[in-house]
Amino acid sequence: MQIIRLLSDETINKIAAGEVIESPASCVKELIENALDANAKKITIEMLGGGLKLLRISDDGFGMSRLDAKACILRHATSKLVSADDLFRISTKGFRGEALASIASISKVKIATKKDGDEGIELEVEEGKVAKEKPLARRPGTTIEVRSLFYNVPARKKFQKSAPALSAEIFRIVTTMALSHPDVHFELISNQRSIIKTEHTGLEKRAEELLGEEFVSGSFPLHYKCDAFELSGMIGSPQNTRSNKTSQHLFINGRAVVCVPIANAVRMGYATRLEERRHPIFLLYLTASTDLIDVNVHPQKLEVRLREEELFHTEVERAVMNALQEEKPKSTYSFTPTNTAFEDVSFKFEEEQTPELLPFEKTSAEFLGQFGSHLLFKEEDELVFLDSKAVSFRTRFEQLQKNETKAASQGLLVPIRVDLTPVECAMVLTHQDAIEGMGFSLRSMGGETFQVEALPPFLDEWEVQDALVEMAHALQAFIGEKDYSEARQEKLALITASRAKRKSGYLQDEAIRLYEELHRCESPKFCPKGNPTKVHLNDDEIKALFRADQKTAKSS
Ligand code: ADP
Ligand code: MG
Repeated sequence: MQIIRLLSDETINKIAAGEVIESPASCVKELIENALDANAKKITIEMLGGGLKLLRISDDGFGMSRLDAKACILRHATSKLVSADDLFRISTKGFRGEALASIASISKVKIATKKDGDEGIELEVEEGKVAKEKPLARRPGTTIEVRSLFYNVPARKKFQKSAPALSAEIFRIVTTMALSHPDVHFELISNQRSIIKTEHTGLEKRAEELLGEEFVSGSFPLHYKCDAFELSGMIGSPQNTRSNKTSQHLFINGRAVVCVPIANAVRMGYATRLEERRHPIFLLYLTASTDLIDVNVHPQKLEVRLREEELFHTEVERAVMNALQEEKPKSTYSFTPTNTAFEDVSFKFEEEQTPELLPFEKTSAEFLGQFGSHLLFKEEDELVFLDSKAVSFRTRFEQLQKNETKAASQGLLVPIRVDLTPVECAMVLTHQDAIEGMGFSLRSMGGETFQVEALPPFLDEWEVQDALVEMAHALQAFIGEKDYSEARQEKLALITASRAKRKSGYLQDEAIRLYEELHRCESPKFCPKGNPTKVHLNDDEIKALFRADQKTAKSS
């Protein structure tokens, strides 16, 4: 008896499809790459329901002949690679001829295409095979429509994220593609709404459109050439940093890649100018001979290896150092409120008030006075220094974590307008509830604009734009994560609390209130960043300070 059978083409395609197309975003990436390989100058991406319902990618590239259109959905059908030798001098993005075959086997595909001098054609593809075809009058170029992605692979469909999360991934891919090809126009339309639409070509304008003006104005231009490679683009000023690496954009030979050694070398170029745990922002394009770069050709992997890592490290570090020395950033980074006209009349309904808290026991501490930002108390027989900044950071943080701030949120008479990049906007929309839990109230105004109608009581208005941008960037870390709601709450609370107003003068009862708020905290000893909130000195320790063999104060 023979139990070994050959798998049908259909099954082989479905299995292989899983490797190439794991989400709507990877489908979009493949289709955009095909359009770019066809020399398109304008690419439009439409999607419904995060791309699971519909994806439609249209380009004005050179299109396909009727015969090619029918062949393009076959596995290992490619116009880009003829023999194994070609593998070593590949310049197109795709070459394995797998993407369309994969997509066609796990969705319902319609292809409309026309090549100059040829008749246009429209094909309907089902289960990987041409089901219908008819001639079509259209301009040269190609439109590929993908409906019901994963309809016949329920196991994969089940593991897809929610539509907003999938959309956010697509925003990100399109942004990256549009950055990697600043000479090609892109438009992304989600649920009939235009989300990204590039108006300009050229690196600087493109960066401004997609990453925000602030990214560009706060960056130094960088142009560097050495024997091994050419590097150009822009790097953020040392003040314009982020808490994560999502604003580091690197393209090697036209591909968006992750390349840790280069990112590290960039950081080294800043030497001591960066604060700990802050990351520079950059948009860099590296062009090098393909001999030096090892692009992992697995379709999902963007990682590259460098043949001469040391050399790259030294040269990239030097490129960054030079750029930071030679010129000033385009304009010094500073925040300008977007609603300047209303700035003066904008105020809050009420003065800041501390959220209503549980009644507390009388404290035994006596307030002695204030020294700089430190508050001095006598606690039984100890002298206690409170660092008022660290303490308010801690108390705000815990209030935010427990959702106690939302109720105290302050309505604004004149809402604050906040402009975000498409990706930031997508993140804010996706996590709007969680952000509002911090005491913000947001209204989407279409495009990438929001109106902030209420704020946490302790936040200054001019912090709002930066706070939301920082949140949007931090939230990107949760793409693809499961069970992140606690981590997210903590992150958002941290960002919001770290921007709380710094009070300078404390009256006695305010000082005592702060002291008591601190003692109701779950972790009163340290601020959320780990700095001590208070220092105790007892009599012996104070005496020791006056002796030659002094000991250091103990912190508690
Ligand atoms: P690959 O890109 O690796 O060659 P694909 O499955 O992505 O494989 O595409 C198969 C072939 O279909 C391509 O080699 C190309 O000839 C053709 N093709 C796909 N998309 C387009 C497009 N948008 N415009 C012109 N030709 C296309
Ligand atoms: Mg391809």
